[in-house]
Amino acid sequence: MPYTYDDTNIFARILRGEIPCSKVLETPHSLAFDDIAPQASVHVLVIPRGAYVNYDHFAQEASVEEIADFTRAVAEVCRLKGLEPGADGAGYRLISNAGRDGMQEVPHLHVHILAGHPLGRLVQPAG
Ligand code: 5GP
Repeated sequence: MPYTYDDTNIFARILRGEIPCSKVLETPHSLAFDDIAPQASVHVLVIPRGAYVNYDHFAQEASVEEIADFTRAVAEVCRLKGLEPGADGAGYRLISNAGRDGMQEVPHLHVHILAGHPLGRLVQPAG
């Protein structure tokens, strides 16, 4: 399926430096920053620098280098924040919303890293 990317979205503007963000990590192909309206005590967004609408777009069309960089950026944020489950870190939740039913607000791929306390169930029951 062809993907249409709107480069006026807010994360594209953050990538161009037009609006500020609270940076957590910068890599050659990715950027991580704090969510402006955190839903948990740790709420970091990780985005690719490339123009990808959502996860399936990225997974289909990004280069191997971009995919590796983005995946490793998620791991590095977890390490920087001390979230890796085990002796110290208590874990985290990784979410990527897409499209209408995913209730995606910003049409530039992002994953949410949520952590800091028990996060409850993943989704509300349908109804
Ligand atoms: P989505 O619903 O698309 O998965 O999530 C978009 C996220 O982007 C939301 O959690 C929202 O709080 C965050 N967000 C929206 N605008 C901005 C902004 O200007 N700066 C930052 N840092 N986060 C934003």
